[in-house]
Amino acid sequence: MSQNVIIKIENVKKFYPKSKALNGVSVSMNEGEEYLIRGSSGSGKSTLLYLLGGLERPTEGKVIVNQKNLGELNDEELALYRNRYVGFVFQFHFLLSSMNCMDNILLPSRLGGLESSEVKKRALVLADHLQVSHCLEKFPFELSGGEQQRINIIRALSLKPHLLLCDEPTGNLDSENSKKVIQLLRLLAREFNSTLVVVTHDPLIAQSFPNQFVMKDGVLLTQ
Ligand code: ADP
Ligand code: MG
Repeated sequence: MSQNVIIKIENVKKFYPKSKALNGVSVSMNEGEEYLIRGSSGSGKSTLLYLLGGLERPTEGKVIVNQKNLGELNDEELALYRNRYVGFVFQFHFLLSSMNCMDNILLPSRLGGLESSEVKKRALVLADHLQVSHCLEKFPFELSGGEQQRINIIRALSLKPHLLLCDEPTGNLDSENSKKVIQLLRLLAREFNSTLVVVTHDPLIAQSFPNQFVMKDGVLLTQ
C-alpha cells in the first residue's frame, strides 16, 4: 500500500456563531488507507467531514487534499473537486425525491459528464450485493430507511471516488447489514485505492479499523 500523504489538515478551526465546532485540528492521512473517527455528539466529527469534502470552508487553518488547499479554490473549482474526487455517504441521505433510485445513483456521473455503461454496470453489481436490486426503479419514498441508505452508498461509490467520506454510514441498518456495508465500503475503497474516512458510534465497527481517532470538543486525538 502506498504511503503518500494525501490529506493534510493544519490547525483547522471552524467557528459558528454559537459554537467552536473545530478548535485546532491537525492531522495527516495517507492515500488508500482507512481511518475511523469516534466521539460524542456535537464534538465536531461531521464538521470535519464537511471541510474535507469541500462543503464548508475553515475559519482558520488549511485543509490540503491531493496538494490542493481547498480554502483557496473558488466555488466552481470546489464543485468540481466534490464531483470528481469525493464520494459522500452521509447520515441524512440526500436522495432526490423526484427521481427513481437508478437515476439518483447516476446523477453524479450525469452532472460530471461521465455517464457510461461501466458506471451503470457497477451500480447493478453493487445493488445486487447490497440486496436493493428491486429498488432501482422505485422512488426514494417507496423505500425503507435502510434501503435508502444502501442506494446512497451505491451513488457515493459510482465514480470510484479518491476520497470516500462516511458519516454514520450504518445509522439506519440492522447489525447484519451494518457489517455488510462496512465490509463492502472497505473492499471497494481498497479496490479503487480510495482513502476512506468513517465516522461511527458503533463499537463493533470501530474496533476493526487500523487507524483510530477520537474527536473531543473540536480537537482530534489519536487513539
Ligand atoms: P458531531 O458530528 O460530532 O455530532 P457537528 O460537527 O455536527 O458534531 O457539530 C459540532 C458543533 O458545531 C455543534 O455544537 C453544532 O451545533 C455546531 N454546528 C455544526 N454545524 C453547524 C451549522 N451549520 N451552523 C451552526 N452550528 C453548527
Ligand atoms: Mg455528526
